[in-house]
Amino acid sequence: MTMHTRQSLEERESRELAAYGQRAGEARVRVHAEDEHPYRTAFHRDRDRIIHCSAFRRLEYKTQVFVNHFGDYYRTRLTHTMEVTQIARTVARALGLNEDLTETVALAHDLGHGPFGHTGEDALAEAMQDHGGFEHNSQALRIVDVLECKYPDFAGLNLTDPVRRSLLKHGKERVGLEAQTVDASDRIAYNSHDIDDGLKSGILDEAALSETALWREAAAKIDVRSDETRRFHTVRCMINAAVTDLLESSLERLRDVAPGNAEEARSCGRRLIAPSDEMARKQKELSQFLYENFYNEYRVRRMRVKAQGYLKRMFRALVDDPGLLAPVDRARAERDGTERAVCDTIAGMTDREALIEYRRLFEPEGDFPLPA
Ligand code: MG
Repeated sequence: MTMHTRQSLEERESRELAAYGQRAGEARVRVHAEDEHPYRTAFHRDRDRIIHCSAFRRLEYKTQVFVNHFGDYYRTRLTHTMEVTQIARTVARALGLNEDLTETVALAHDLGHGPFGHTGEDALAEAMQDHGGFEHNSQALRIVDVLECKYPDFAGLNLTDPVRRSLLKHGKERVGLEAQTVDASDRIAYNSHDIDDGLKSGILDEAALSETALWREAAAKIDVRSDETRRFHTVRCMINAAVTDLLESSLERLRDVAPGNAEEARSCGRRLIAPSDEMARKQKELSQFLYENFYNEYRVRRMRVKAQGYLKRMFRALVDDPGLLAPVDRARAERDGTERAVCDTIAGMTDREALIEYRRLFEPEGDFPLPA
């Protein structure tokens, strides 16, 4: 019997990861110094901190496309996050990247989303345009650095630098290969599961989807008659095609650049984990199709417009009278400014919390039960 210690796990990473994979043993630096764990690497700890934080649990009641109460079949941010994580781990493992770091980044990648998905983000971005802005990737970093309070001596989760940097994947910061893997996997996951949700809801139909190359090619391989299983297998086939392409294309780029370590890969000036040009073009075509026929379908759009109005009205009311904020949020308003604190408060809400809070603020029968 042997027990793996942190040291032996780090040694195994050194032996088994590709040269360009980020080693946990080289990424132990945290803003606040901590003793190392006896049998978990730095990335294992970061992953566990994400899973145990309250923003992570809230993903269950945040929207992907449909507002949360629309039905229990559809993806939420939590199930989306799990799908992204599984795809990203598969890619990382196959390419010799650090699977633990990839998993951690994938689990955290949507922490910064407010209620009602991108609609919520648009509403908060508009409300905050003269007060420092709002963007979900920066908000994810703010959550793990400042807003989660779990430790007596410091705010935030004190995550390692590679994880923190990865959360800013759309910012100017160059991100490592594990973060690039999550980014590419995110696109594969939402493109395919939004088709599944769109078909299940009846808003999309297979005939219209056949306009897109990715659906057409996957559907041609499937010989299943029942609607439900055909849909499942076609979506499965699409994911498989996209992941296989991502692996092949990334391997080619990696061979081309031949980075000697993780830092070289990060700073080489181009994305190395990315689909082929042809696949990227097909994915764009599909995204465009979903944008026109699903995200902007009139019933989905009605939900979005209504949700946006709720958030804007709440934001205005709370900024105009911070006395309406709970004491903990009011204390933050004194420290960080009223707009930022109200933005953090609203962004932290799940869909249903936002709906309940809206009733509390604006409807006479919304006062009860009293908030904790
Ligand atoms: Mg995502």
